[in-house]
Amino acid sequence: MYDVIIIGGGPAGIMCAIQSQKKYKKIALIDSNTQLLKKFRLTGNGRSNILNLSEKDNFLKAMHNHKFLISSFNTFNNFDLFNYFESIGIKLKVENHYRVYPKSDNANLVADLLINQLKFVDVYAGETVLKIENNFDITTTNNKFHCKKLVIATGGKSFPNTGSTGSGYALLEKLGHTITPLYPVETPIVSNDTLIQSKKLQGLSFNDIIINVYSNGKCVDTYCHDLLFTHFGLSGPASLGVSESVHLSLSKNKATHITIDFIPNINLNAFITNLSLNSKLSSCLLSFLPKRFVETLQDYLTFDITKNTSEISKKNIETLFNFLKHFKLAVHDIKPIQYAFVTGGGVKISEIDPKTYESKKIANLYIIGEVVDIHGKIGGYNLTYCFISGYICGNKI
Ligand SMILES: Cc1cc2nc3c(=O)[nH]c(=O)nc-3n(C[C@H](O)[C@H](O)[C@H](O)COP(=O)(O)OP(=O)(O)OC[C@H]3O[C@@H](n4cnc5c(N)ncnc54)[C@H](O)[C@@H]3O)c2cc1C
Repeated sequence: MYDVIIIGGGPAGIMCAIQSQKKYKKIALIDSNTQLLKKFRLTGNGRSNILNLSEKDNFLKAMHNHKFLISSFNTFNNFDLFNYFESIGIKLKVENHYRVYPKSDNANLVADLLINQLKFVDVYAGETVLKIENNFDITTTNNKFHCKKLVIATGGKSFPNTGSTGSGYALLEKLGHTITPLYPVETPIVSNDTLIQSKKLQGLSFNDIIINVYSNGKCVDTYCHDLLFTHFGLSGPASLGVSESVHLSLSKNKATHITIDFIPNINLNAFITNLSLNSKLSSCLLSFLPKRFVETLQDYLTFDITKNTSEISKKNIETLFNFLKHFKLAVHDIKPIQYAFVTGGGVKISEIDPKTYESKKIANLYIIGEVVDIHGKIGGYNLTYCFISGYICGNKI
């Protein structure tokens, strides 16, 4: 008989297990994977963008269903989480856009430090929970357990090879909870535009471009980060950052396209100044843009860019400038949930107490992390939320 059982050894479940040790000494953590924190080890390209340190209002604005998080933030916020990590030896650094990474740039080292905090927790790794009955009898692939308090931290449905297969949703539905429709968040964008189909830019990446999403002619989202052209469309952080807006627009059958500003830090004057009159325009452009992109540009322009800049009219230079600032690309879909970094939708928030994460339907059942209908933008928001929900639940349980 356990006091507390936590299903799911991701960031939310681990943090909950660590915190619940303050009050309980018979705790079990069950995870389908033989290694805990499997998805976490992949985060931030193995560096883990572990946290976002934006001020409260800006942080909450970046979260879907942010009102639910207000009481969490009044108890333990992202700055408290930063201090907590440092207090247990996870030294951190803040990069641009308030993104926080471990100084080690190593998600595996952070995972091991977190796992070392588990002192009174029996870990059952490599076991999948199949059934939950009778407040609470738990059947796994290998064992049967009983506990007084149960925490579900089974994650979403994306990257299922990391263990988050979506089985938690089914367990919770059987217990009477409502699951709002699931959809991919932070996923590559699919485009059937002729440029993409031509594959001329496949594999080409751009640093710090600005991407805008237009829905029925109105700009609904903007994001600045790196972009990668692929054989099917767009990937890289910039495309992941706006994919949710693309999804929302397409799902409402609205005309959807994106524009890309390839030269966000250059205005018209600087653009003209940088073009040497006695060189070919195409050669001048190579100081801003990759060669393969410059070669492709000619397909879109009515004047010859291999001529000397002095032979090209000011009007045509302005046309080129505007083209690079507002490059338009039709978009048609986003990649499905298994390719997404995060799952949108999940357990309905009105069925969970925001102060404790306890189910309003079943006493002593708690639900935390990505399995809940809460997610944030790219930039460390999701891990911050998962750790905070685990911290609060672990202290309130
Ligand atoms: C490639 C990638 C990179 C990412 N990078 C970042 C980043 O840098 N910053 C950021 O903020 N977010 C990032 N994310 C998102 C972030 O990793 C997730 O939001 C976060 O891991 C969710 O935490 P969780 O604890 O809710 O669930 P998970 O981390 O998914 O953990 C859930 C655990 O539950 C276990 N489980 C599920 N069902 C069962 C069952 N029936 N029985 C037993 N165990 C079960 C699974 O094995 C899994 O280990 C990234 C995601 C991906 C895929």
